[in-house]
Amino acid sequence: MKQTLLLKLAPDADQHAALLGTLEAFNAACNAVAVVAFREQSASKIDLQKLVYYDIRQRFGLSAQMTIRAIAKVAEAYKRDKRIQPRFRPHGAMTYDERICSFPRVDRVSLLTLDGRVVLPFRYGAYQAARLDRIRGQADLLYRDGTFYLSCTVDAPAPTPDEASDYVGVDLGVMTLAATSDGEFLNHSTGPKHAHVNQVRARYSRFRARLQQKDTKSAKRLLKKRSGRERRFTKDVNHCLSKAIVQTAQGTSRGIALEDLTGIRERISAKRTVSKRQRRVLHSWAFCQLRAFIAYKAALAGVSVVYVNPAYTSQTCSRCGHCEKANRKSQAKFRCVACGFSAHADLNAAENIRRAARSCGQTRRPWTTEPQG
Ligand SMILES: [Zn+2]
Repeated sequence: MKQTLLLKLAPDADQHAALLGTLEAFNAACNAVAVVAFREQSASKIDLQKLVYYDIRQRFGLSAQMTIRAIAKVAEAYKRDKRIQPRFRPHGAMTYDERICSFPRVDRVSLLTLDGRVVLPFRYGAYQAARLDRIRGQADLLYRDGTFYLSCTVDAPAPTPDEASDYVGVDLGVMTLAATSDGEFLNHSTGPKHAHVNQVRARYSRFRARLQQKDTKSAKRLLKKRSGRERRFTKDVNHCLSKAIVQTAQGTSRGIALEDLTGIRERISAKRTVSKRQRRVLHSWAFCQLRAFIAYKAALAGVSVVYVNPAYTSQTCSRCGHCEKANRKSQAKFRCVACGFSAHADLNAAENIRRAARSCGQTRRPWTTEPQG
């Protein structure tokens, strides 16, 4: 299992300025790389590196590794949607890998900035303390409301005793944005505002298709305006959804279980019923953003997030465990051929995700909490 830890950094004034300057240079560099990626229609890290590496280093004063990270970030973003040139906010997340980020002490992190390395104290809770030794290499530097955070991914093979013993299983999808093991569809239940998310998305996408055919200046201008509006709408929806999920988990002292991305990809490629359009959504920035928002809000709220890879999430019966392709009647419908249990397919999947997270915890718990022999 993988978990996300969010460390709140406590820089002094000079360090704060150094971090901010670095973050801004990094994102400006990303925007410059994006221009080339879009012009050359290239999402290849290696090709982009050949084209821009020296120029970017020189213009933005980044270190070698920062430059490589900026190119990688652009390549990833552009790969998701090749129709548009990716744009990066001035304070967007910056990736730190083990070459430019280290932990010299248990409560200090050392980050490379344009002004050299800074060693920063950070704050963490008891829950995070148990995880700190597992931080490996890569982390994201985030800047939110004037505060710096470092978001780290850790391997968490053995849950600690104070860990959540139950989880809200969440199936993030296309037709329903989020289904939980509590039997809720979050895009329907979080209020009238989000009742029509899919319709709105479809409308935007039809509109886009029409405009793209026209290819005139005014059509392009309109397209840009619309895509900004769509982006803000989706971001707002993602904020509300992630908040609702985290609050539900926190209010009931549970963790959150999500399917890890490898699991989702396997499911998508195994499923013939998934259309090209849906496949695109699962790789889209909107989907990635929702996952990132959940991780970041959960970490702030002290809610643990686990990523499980349950095989055949969509074909397995969450009541009796019977797994067969025939269980899945359609995109929306699940009916177990063994026990007759029937449910919405996404709710069944969410329950399977919850179970996978629980059984992970249970099989390992005796190992860590009970003395052997
Ligand atoms: Zn069954």
